[in-house]
Amino acid sequence: MDCLFCKIANGTIPGEIVFQDDDVIAFRDIGPHAPQHCLIIPRKHISTINDFDDPVLFGKLGMAARTLAKQLGVDESGYRLVMNCNEDGGQSVFHVHMHFLAGRPLAWPPG
Ligand code: 5GP
Ligand code: ZN
Repeated sequence: MDCLFCKIANGTIPGEIVFQDDDVIAFRDIGPHAPQHCLIIPRKHISTINDFDDPVLFGKLGMAARTLAKQLGVDESGYRLVMNCNEDGGQSVFHVHMHFLAGRPLAWPPG
């Protein structure tokens, strides 16, 4: 399958990995929107949130975010997790991913 994030997950394309375990991998976003901007993905290819059928794996993305927040030292200052789905959600890469944003105050609501 020709999927950019599968290639980063399996090492075919380089990524700046910040966290990994058997099921999940996280790497720095190539176009960061905050001082800390990482993408947390399942190793398994899943195109969108709509295609998720494994609640445990979904939960592992959140638990990885929690670990990453501590690792990056932003667990107390704060961070934001975002998952974009399909066109209106602004999804551009169709391997499901959780954005991890931190390192500055983030505006709300989003655009
Ligand atoms: P989406 O718009 O689908 O929610 O987010 C996709 C994200 O992937 C964007 O923030 C974009 O900057 C990031 N991205 C796109 N191509 C690459 C790449 O080759 N490497 C990395 N590390 N991030 C990428
Ligand atoms: Zn993929």
